[in-house]
Amino acid sequence: METIKVKAFGTNSSNDELAEMVINRRKVQAHDVEMEILYCGICHSDLHQIKNDFGATLFPIVPGHEILGRVTAIGEHVSKFSIGDLVGVGCIVDSCRHCESCEEGVEQFCEEGVTFSFNSVDKVSGGHTFGGFSNTYVCDEKYVLRMPGFDNLASAAPLLCAGITVYSPLMHWQAGPGKKVGVLGIGGLGHLAIKIAKAMGAEVTVFTTSPSKIEDAIRLGADHAVLSNDNEAMSNYTRQLHFIIDTVSAKHDVNTYLNLLRHDGTVVLVGLPPEALEIGAFNVVSGRKSFAGSNIGGIKETQDMLDFCYKHNIVADSEIINIQDVNTAFERLEKGDVKYRFVIDMASLKN
Ligand code: NAP
Ligand code: ZN
Ligand code: ZN
Repeated sequence: METIKVKAFGTNSSNDELAEMVINRRKVQAHDVEMEILYCGICHSDLHQIKNDFGATLFPIVPGHEILGRVTAIGEHVSKFSIGDLVGVGCIVDSCRHCESCEEGVEQFCEEGVTFSFNSVDKVSGGHTFGGFSNTYVCDEKYVLRMPGFDNLASAAPLLCAGITVYSPLMHWQAGPGKKVGVLGIGGLGHLAIKIAKAMGAEVTVFTTSPSKIEDAIRLGADHAVLSNDNEAMSNYTRQLHFIIDTVSAKHDVNTYLNLLRHDGTVVLVGLPPEALEIGAFNVVSGRKSFAGSNIGGIKETQDMLDFCYKHNIVADSEIINIQDVNTAFERLEKGDVKYRFVIDMASLKN
């Protein structure tokens, strides 16, 4: 397959910093859209993958899966997009299109294996996929999202992973008026969970390990914010919540949070701690509680989420950086020192 050389930022091993490199992208095929990347968010999953936390990283790796850009070329059979359109690509760039999951619009669970925007085997061009820390992206229009005209485009990029990852379970477990929703961890995902759950009409309580985020959680829209090591404050929430979304990226005790659920409540894990989590039998048996998980969301649901966020004026609180500062950004992300999402201005890669 004919390819084009594209400038990118990536690394050849988990011990090396990210640096400029050249990758090959396929030439635009009949159903493909090519975009110039304007902004790319930095997700904790990018950090997990460059550190090879899950032992499955395909090197060299170019991270980035909150990709916002403008269409620069389209294949002859493209019908949804025109040159100049503002578009987004999140985590999913291909799937089998005919299994039960694909038919139901949950392509993230494709039975033949979904292709992710980076670090995935690329069934079209061979090799593996390279993410959005680069000048351009090419993929099938079926997996491209239409970006509404957000005033702050850069801060809309994180919706493409962080936004959908929290919107999907909030929809599935029916966050809304009369529901008491907990959000665990205020990072990229957590701060958007607060905004989205509030926009859905739920009462939101935030649990954080960071004293500096208590006040901010209220500013972000939470009704209550609790320091998770304050046992007395925590005890006020015993058996109070219908649903808790757990965004924590490292090993932690989920039993504490199962105890905050009402009967039939659910803790849904979206964070990806590399280590296994332990659950005490009585913490789920008493009260018929569920411990569940959720992984991003399908393409249609991602478009619904973008339209919902546009309608409710929701974008990320972001810190815009140049690509040359990406290694410092990853160090800060690892320490939890970001309020609340880094977004790379990809014009900096052209310099
Ligand atoms: P992030 O910005 O780093 O936020 C994670 C938050 O978790 C931190 O801000 C911190 O919040 C809390 N935290 C971190 N370490 C902790 C610890 N040891 N104990 C307790 N709390 C801790 O990360 P993110 O981008 O939001 O991603 C969060 C997780 O979701 C990552 O594991 C990522 O890979 C995963 N993820 C999953 C999906 C999916 O589809 N399932 C999609 C995207 C990301 P406080 O300071 O408030 O305590
Ligand atoms: Zn992500
Ligand atoms: Zn499928």
